[in-house]
Amino acid sequence: MHVDTLIRCRWAIPMHPKNTVLENVAIGVADGNISVICDQNQAQELTADEIIELNDHVVIPGLVNAHSHAPMNILRGMGADLSLMDWLQTKIWPAEGKLMSPEFAYEGAKLAAQEMLLSGITCTNDQYFFSEHIARAFEDCAMKCTVSALVIGFPSAMAQTTDDYFKCADALFERYQGNNHVRISVGPHAPYTVDDNALSRVVRLSERHNAPIHMHIDETDFEVQESLRLYGMRPIERLANLGIINERLISVHTVHPNDHEMALLANAGAHVAHCPSSNLKLASGFSPVHKMMQMGINVAIGTDSVASNDKLDILAETRLAAMLGKAVAMDPTAMKVHDMLYAATLGGARAIGWGDRIGSIEIGKAADLVAIHLADINTIPTTDPATQLLYSADRSQISHVWTDGKCVVSTQLLQNSPYFHRESSVKLAKKWQNAL
Ligand SMILES: [Zn+2]
Repeated sequence: MHVDTLIRCRWAIPMHPKNTVLENVAIGVADGNISVICDQNQAQELTADEIIELNDHVVIPGLVNAHSHAPMNILRGMGADLSLMDWLQTKIWPAEGKLMSPEFAYEGAKLAAQEMLLSGITCTNDQYFFSEHIARAFEDCAMKCTVSALVIGFPSAMAQTTDDYFKCADALFERYQGNNHVRISVGPHAPYTVDDNALSRVVRLSERHNAPIHMHIDETDFEVQESLRLYGMRPIERLANLGIINERLISVHTVHPNDHEMALLANAGAHVAHCPSSNLKLASGFSPVHKMMQMGINVAIGTDSVASNDKLDILAETRLAAMLGKAVAMDPTAMKVHDMLYAATLGGARAIGWGDRIGSIEIGKAADLVAIHLADINTIPTTDPATQLLYSADRSQISHVWTDGKCVVSTQLLQNSPYFHRESSVKLAKKWQNAL
């Protein structure tokens, strides 16, 4: 049997089956897909155009970022130490008002894509304005993405009325139908920015396209109190009445659900995108993630934007989620290593509608893979590669990133990959820095 690329690695964590670390394994890639997974001895019988020896590395599926606002990479570092409302009103909204355009969306997303690749993220779930330009940036960087058809209850450079937002949504679904790298979700921004009528249209659109619904929900206590005041119901109760709480929902943040709301999510088979850095930096609170996982809710990990994080590093985010989740649960046995690695890969892929193609090292899935060098100061001696990947490794130890079997980033390629270019990114960022 012949493969295009044969990756011979010391360890691999396939994510499916869960709780598994393979040792001295070979992964064969043909036509962009994983075609063989076998013992290195058995791999002697294979021929390959290229053989990659990774004797001190662990190979995992590409990391999945379950929540991002990629163009906001241009706004990195703005307005530290402000409350959410001050931050939005005095920093973020004025800057967006001044600069918002398709060019802003594309070039900002390009900067985000470069950082994501360097962090081992091969697929992201994005919500912002001008999603077709964001998708184009991710495609140009050989990444996969789900981008939102945004619905928000105020006018923007992209759309003036609710009808306009739904027109943009229809165009987006049409444009990307059957695309191998871009999938579309419906993205009602949040319960407090979208009215009941628009939310009912969101449900119908999502049903028509069998598309995920990507929405910030229960992010702050203020949001919950306002919902009680205006609707006499908590946000998830209101959304359940409207039909939003279903197996296609990606409920982002979900910091303040009560037991009834969590039961609604669990019974519906909804997913949660947990973004601990953003919740901590904006002091939104502490999400009961462990409880949600115990109730059977699929939890994924997201970075949110670099304006509230301020980095796109899923490995670091997952480590934080594990640590924080243990403390919130007051239980050191909570948030187990393999559950967390699953959340950062297959859990994320399932949440954002990509579970059939990515998120695990399985035959037939896309060869979106990441190798991490563990024979490094941070991670020696390597007695437990899964634990050390989660708790000790740093994104700087990522040696290779492949998407569809193509090497997009490697320690040798760093300066001249067609998909990753440090110098032109710096140049691009400086242009926007001057415009701010
Ligand atoms: Zn967000």
